[in-house]
Amino acid sequence: MMLLEIIDQTAEKIKGQEVELNELDAVMGDGEHGSNMKKCFQAVQDSLLDWKEKNEKEILNLTGTKLLTAGGGTATTLIGFFLRRVAIALPESGPYEAESIAEALKQALDAVLEKSRAKEGDKTMMDALIPCVQTFNRAVEHGCSIPEAMEQSARAASEGAKATANMIAKKGRGLYVGERGIGTADPGAVSVSLIAESVSHCVNSEWE
Ligand code: ADP
Ligand code: MG
Repeated sequence: MMLLEIIDQTAEKIKGQEVELNELDAVMGDGEHGSNMKKCFQAVQDSLLDWKEKNEKEILNLTGTKLLTAGGGTATTLIGFFLRRVAIALPESGPYEAESIAEALKQALDAVLEKSRAKEGDKTMMDALIPCVQTFNRAVEHGCSIPEAMEQSARAASEGAKATANMIAKKGRGLYVGERGIGTADPGAVSVSLIAESVSHCVNSEWE
């Protein structure tokens, strides 16, 4: 499956979760996370036809920029920033080996950690993104293929997102929710896990 198609399918999946994501954010924040995600991923989808001649590095950079500038919230800004950093860290041209993808993801994670100032356990999207990237790297170190590594990292992201339900938020709007947030997962973490699951599904269906 081409990268443009993976992005299209992922945008479709995110848009379909608008209500559920808004419900999580209604407890943890201002109730708009799903709508923010939908708006920004719609903006990405609307641009995909214009990017047909671009290479993968350019497409990731353009997708990140679109997410950053389409007027969403904290999560779309950080996801956009992450994708741009992945694009910057990739070698000039593909096809990309699992090792260079793992390295680019790791560099992008480090950049987002610095920017967001959130740590593991702060009940943010980082609680899905950190295990996602670390698991991908570990799987590649153990010799896994890209689809195998992606499947493992999507599972780690999903477990990470679920675990946020037991946490008290230390960053973002959740800070003002405190213990009332226990029992509700962090919306941004759930979005990251949805993205990871979609990408994993796409790269794994290609290999079937
Ligand atoms: P807004 O914060 O403007 O309401 P969203 O609702 O779209 O934007 O995004 C909220 C999500 O952003 C949270 O669920 C959390 O995952 C993430 N987030 C907020 N602050 C931070 C932070 N400092 N570091 C990492 N992620 C954060
Ligand atoms: Mg919000």
